[in-house]
Amino acid sequence: MDILEWGKENIKFVGNSKTNKSSRRGCIPQIIVNHISEGSMSSMISWFTSPNNTGSSAHFGVSKKGEIYQFVKIEDCAWANGLTSGIENATAELVRQKGKDINPNWYSVSIEHEGVYKETKGALTPEQLEATKILHRYIIEYVKQKYGHTIQPSSKTIIGHYEIDKKQRPNCPGDLFPFREIIDYLNNYGLPFGDIKGHWAESLIIEAYEQGIIKGYPDGTFRPDAAMTRAEAVALITAALKKAPG
Ligand SMILES: [Zn+2]
Repeated sequence: MDILEWGKENIKFVGNSKTNKSSRRGCIPQIIVNHISEGSMSSMISWFTSPNNTGSSAHFGVSKKGEIYQFVKIEDCAWANGLTSGIENATAELVRQKGKDINPNWYSVSIEHEGVYKETKGALTPEQLEATKILHRYIIEYVKQKYGHTIQPSSKTIIGHYEIDKKQRPNCPGDLFPFREIIDYLNNYGLPFGDIKGHWAESLIIEAYEQGIIKGYPDGTFRPDAAMTRAEAVALITAALKKAPG
């Protein structure tokens, strides 16, 4: 299914007129910032829609069950990633480059994850991990279509709140938050194996896979640089001969 269609069916917009938001001031979303909510999903929803909250919001919230809620449109700026402790407490490369006068909220998209750091250290439930992976993909595609900008998934663009405010938010989203798994997913979905992106033989491997000539390992890898066994070589050559014309 088209990922934006997936979003229409799976993301529930619950933001209201009380939800904090403002203009992006002409900035394009360039980074996705991950958070842990320090509470339940229902408390997140009530806080981000409450008239008593005049200081915070996020674009999305992902529950432990894998439900996805949206509070602020991607076109608008949510209030989640400000430089409240000063630029000297930001470590993210892009944030340092842009400096103290450009609020990271203007060029970021924020995702809250239901959870309490003391209980989980930022680890997600399997359902939550699956949901946030696809949500990241949705955000990247949305930004690409809306702004013509591609967020290249890496540790520079998929970051945690602690990289913007290490003083007040050192544990957001927590040491066990699965950044690596999310970034790997974003770089490899749609490919038959998880370790061939950018390899010199990537297109040949995909073609051979689609023709049924090769299989990967049970863990979803192809190990393109591992030595071939004699049996594998024989299987490959035999298959190639069968396909050859004449
Ligand atoms: Zn946070």
